[in-house]
Amino acid sequence: MSSTSAPTRITHLIAGAPWTGRSERTSEVFNPATGHVSGILDLASSDLVSDVVAGAQQAWQTSWRNASLAARSQVLFRFRELLNRDKERIAALITAEHGKVLSDALGEVLRGLEVAEFACGIPTLVRGSFTENASTQVDVYSIRQSLGVVAVISPFNFPAMVPLWFVPIAIACGNAVVLKPSEKDPSATIAVAALWTEAGLPDGVINVVNGDKEAVDALLTHPDVKAVSFVGSTPIARYVYETGTRHGKRVQALGGAKNHMLVLPDADLDLAADAAINAGFGSAGERCMAISALVAVDVIADELVEKIKDRMGKLRTGDGTRDSDMGPLVTGAHRDKVTSYVEAGVEAGAELVVDGRTGAYDAEGAGFFLAPTLFDKVTPGMSIYDEEIFGPVLSVLRVATYDEGLALINANPYGNGTAIFTNDGGAARRFQNEVEVGMVGVNVPIPVPVSYYSFGGWKNSLFGDSHAHGAEGVHFFTRGKVVTSRWLDPSHGGLNLGFPQNS
Ligand code: NAD
Repeated sequence: MSSTSAPTRITHLIAGAPWTGRSERTSEVFNPATGHVSGILDLASSDLVSDVVAGAQQAWQTSWRNASLAARSQVLFRFRELLNRDKERIAALITAEHGKVLSDALGEVLRGLEVAEFACGIPTLVRGSFTENASTQVDVYSIRQSLGVVAVISPFNFPAMVPLWFVPIAIACGNAVVLKPSEKDPSATIAVAALWTEAGLPDGVINVVNGDKEAVDALLTHPDVKAVSFVGSTPIARYVYETGTRHGKRVQALGGAKNHMLVLPDADLDLAADAAINAGFGSAGERCMAISALVAVDVIADELVEKIKDRMGKLRTGDGTRDSDMGPLVTGAHRDKVTSYVEAGVEAGAELVVDGRTGAYDAEGAGFFLAPTLFDKVTPGMSIYDEEIFGPVLSVLRVATYDEGLALINANPYGNGTAIFTNDGGAARRFQNEVEVGMVGVNVPIPVPVSYYSFGGWKNSLFGDSHAHGAEGVHFFTRGKVVTSRWLDPSHGGLNLGFPQNS
């Protein structure tokens, strides 16, 4: 589609087919590289959400909850193959609506694919335990069963990967899913969801409803929605957690972040500078694991800032379909918000080393660009440090010692990811033990766990006690049952009204 083509209609995917109704409310989807409206998205009413949940409940009851593990894993293997087949197409949809460069978009599809691969092992993942003769002729065993209809509500910054953190595991565990993508870039999410039908999943087991607060509230309060996996900003995550749990659901709500990278004097400064650039400006800083606060121990801070500044001079900002390192921000409103943080940083007295507002970019039209920006001598109390910016703005804070750096990180209300750069194994080991953050990197700037471990932060970065995917994902999407069983052989044991005792 050329940048000036008429916007296409984007609608819900219900029981394997695009919705054919008429929506009372719609919203605009942009191509962030050109600023043009590329799509008009149908927004679901609460009545429509209710109908979709009813259809999902029916599909769960009749066709999926008792589907054998063999049948489920065959669907999962086929889905994995289809996602792999279509990865470039999905990546192009991400770039067209999110703006991130194509290689980055492909990277997120591949990380999502790893969760589908993990879910292919569902027969072993839900295996229970069995104890023979717990009591004489009494066996005890545990099983894990599906919950029913579960909701997945996702953010704009990973339209393929974040839904894939949850959906394959929820389906593998025997649930039906209602997925509500971000209204800013829904097309990649819908395209991935459509592959399930081709993979042989019965209609109604996966559905996509597009929408805003009305759709989210309908899911959070519907009695047949048993669990909610949410990813987004901290205020909305808190709201989703509180509302969902008040309505009796299990909820995992992953929120915002302020990720610190602590650089000790003995670190390889070239490695640290490369890492700061990649983790600070990849995806225009629109990653929940982006490094936004670089904490440098004083003696190396000048040299490190210089190295980062040099590298920033080589970065190309532009349309993600061209030869760019960094794309635009997702919307004009978000770009303006991030720009207002740059202004606030200058006003608060931080040193603006590289000003992205004046940076050049390579694109047609008026895209939502802001080039990489670097602040030095940032301190707590400045909004550029205290708040999540979610843009290409990296702040350097200077500390005198490791202890001061650690105290700064632990005082921050967020606890999603963090990294230490050092060549001292003892210091790294102390850091992993003492830091109050859910995901820690040692000389690794974006420590996103592999799919068979679980992803999630601490403090204001996650509400609920389950992290995403891995063993915790399987646990979240199933509930346990323990059966105590006796088959009398050869004869009846007689009446006994006493409390049963093991013998
Ligand atoms: P967002 O909170 O604006 O939106 C997330 C979801 O909530 C969307 O589906 C949206 O439609 C819905 N929503 C928005 N406003 C709502 C309201 N008032 N009531 C109910 N639902 C509402 O987040 P975003 O801008 O799409 O995504 C960026 C945020 O997500 C950042 O804060 C980022 O750190 C966070 N994030 C966190 C993780 C993590 O793993 N912790 C991962 C990715 C993104």
